[in-house]
Order: sequence, then C-alpha cells, then structure tokens
Amino acid sequence: MQLAKSPAAALTGVVKKYGEKTALDGVSLNIPRGSVTALLGPNGAGKSTAVGLMLGLITADAGRVELFGRAPQEVVARRKIGVMLQTAALPETLRVGELVELASCYYARPRKLAEVARMAGIEDLLRRPYGALSGGQQRRVQFAVAICGNPELLFLDEPTTGLDIEAREALWNVVRQLIAQGCAVLLTTHYLEEAEALAHWVAVLVNGRIVTEGSVDAVRAVGVRRHIRCVSVLPAAQVRQWPGVDAVTAQGHRLDIEARIAEPIVQRLLMTDPTLSELEVTRAGLAEAFVQITKRGPTHASDGLACEGQPRSSTERAEPAHGGPTHASDGLACEGQPRSSTERAEPAHGEAA
Ligand code: ADP
Repeated sequence: MQLAKSPAAALTGVVKKYGEKTALDGVSLNIPRGSVTALLGPNGAGKSTAVGLMLGLITADAGRVELFGRAPQEVVARRKIGVMLQTAALPETLRVGELVELASCYYARPRKLAEVARMAGIEDLLRRPYGALSGGQQRRVQFAVAICGNPELLFLDEPTTGLDIEAREALWNVVRQLIAQGCAVLLTTHYLEEAEALAHWVAVLVNGRIVTEGSVDAVRAVGVRRHIRCVSVLPAAQVRQWPGVDAVTAQGHRLDIEARIAEPIVQRLLMTDPTLSELEVTRAGLAEAFVQITKRGPTHASDGLACEGQPRSSTERAEPAHGGPTHASDGLACEGQPRSSTERAEPAHGEAA
C-alpha cells in the first residue's frame, strides 16, 4: 500500500555507468510531495543522469529508482509527472493553444486550457505559432506544457533561463502554488538564486555523489565564511594577523574581513578602533557555499562545520525556504553520515504557502 506521504520519486543507492565513466555513484535522493528539492552541481556532476533515471529514459546499473512507488517506465506513474527540460523540441508550426491541448490529451485529469494559460502567463499567445515566439515566450509555453496535466511531480530544469525578472517571479509564484497543493518539484539548476528562492531542500551533486544536502540555510552554512565590512583606520595587514581572520581586502579605509566566526573579530575591531563605522556582518549566499563545496569535494563527518546541526533528527526538517527565513540550525546531512534525503520528513501540504 502506498502511504499518502511516500515520496513522489526516490533514488536509493543508485549507480549509473556510461562505459568506464561512473555518472552516479551510489546516489540516494527522495523527492517529497509538497516541496521543492533542488539538485545542484557543476556540469558533468550527474544531474541529468539522475533526472533521466526518474523519468525512465535510462536505467540504473545498481540501486532502486522509483516513481510513485513504481518503475519509472510504467505509464501510470509517468502520467503523474510534468517535465520542463532545457531543450524542448515542440512542433514550431502548431499554435500555442493547440500545443497545450495536445499535451493535455496525454493526461487523465488535465487542467483547463484557460487555467494553464493564466498560470503560465501565455493568455495572449494562444493563437500564435510556437515557432514565431521569442525564447522567453517559448519558455513560458514549455512551462504550460509541463503543468497542463495537473502533475503530482514536476521536473524543472533551469526553468527561468531566458525569462525577464517579472516572468521569473510569476513562474516562481506558480511553483509555490503548486507545491502548496501538494505537488513535488525537482529543480535542477545552475542558477543558485532560483534554488535560494524556491527550494526547501538542496542536494549538491559532485562527480556522481551527493556531497552535501540540507535546507538552503544549512547548505549555505557549510564552510561559509562571514564577511565583516567596516570603515576603519586599522591597516589591513594588521587585521590579517588576528586569529580567526581568514582574509582581508581593503579599499582605502574600507575593509572586508572574512572569518568563519564573526563575533570575536567584531569585538576586537570595536575595541581596537573607536572610530570604526559602517560595521556590517553578512553571511555568504548559496552561490558562494556551492562554489566552496564544489571545490572541496565530499564533506566528511570529521568536518565540524559541514556537519553542524548533524545530531538533530532528520524528521526535524525545517520549514520551506520561501515561506520565510530558515534557521542556521536546520538539519544538514553530509556524505558518510547516516542521514540522507531519503530519511527526511516531508512537509505537510500547504506548508509552503
Ligand atoms: P550534468 O547533468 O550534471 O551536467 P550528466 O548527468 O549529463 O551531468 O553527466 C554525468 C557524467 O556522465 C558526465 O561525465 C558525462 O560526460 C557522462 N555522460 C552523460 N551521458 C553520457 C552518455 N550518454 N554517454 C557517455 N557519458 C555520458
């Protein structure tokens, strides 16, 4: 019997090889309902392979791939998914309305064309041939095709590439509505702002292995330094010598100090320079964390920072990122740790609203 809260899709210990190349090396990942899971990683990390397996386009050499508890090749499972890949070969001569209706035929409970058009922001494009549209307009049509079947699991690959800011925000809002209704979303992206805006859970794939996963904040916190910025008469060379300071850059009197723990540095700054002004402490964004994780490769249990928050139970998975700020103590799982996305708790539907 399939439990109501079973994941929409799951990879368990999946290995996929292309000849000598191991594209996925024991990957486990759950895609829970009612939330956005972001799969991040540099080119060649194995993201497309992971998606291809869940879509049933390729098969695993080892491990288990499930789509709604079934083999991804089964039509009954495939009818529950919507897909927006980076390359979409849609017939150029068909009008947009015809295209969406054609795609809808494949599904048991499609959305009405008017609803799809509104959601995707393509109401004024329905009578236009697909081939005559701009790149951004075509992207919106591809999104319409992906959501027209009322999917329970939506695959989005770099969905807002080519969209202007307004269209991007609109698409994000629709994705939030869908997850509030219980839809599961797997987002693969290089576009980190997108993951930061949408994702509840981030898994970072490097060389076919998930090296880090957790909430956006937890992943961002992995090895991420704080930036302490201020205007000070202190010479950069002097501050650079202080314990706990990783780097200092200076532009005139404006200092940018990098440190893992900001507070002792801030205290010393204030004590040493009474004229100090414009003090600001910020944490690096997901983009910076991602670059650091990717450079470093797999994190290990012995890496205290990477596994901060580790003792917490996996069922404590925190609230969605876009529903408001998440907390630095949000659960984080590292390679080599018993926790993985397959163990995380699922958010209740509507939690993301
Ligand atoms: P990503 O989507 O993260 O860029 P991919 O899943 O496309 O990564 O690729 C993972 C690795 O597998 C890469 O080294 C890639 O070159 C290799 N690969 C992917 N598809 C094939 C294929 N059909 N034949 C041979 N190697 C492949």
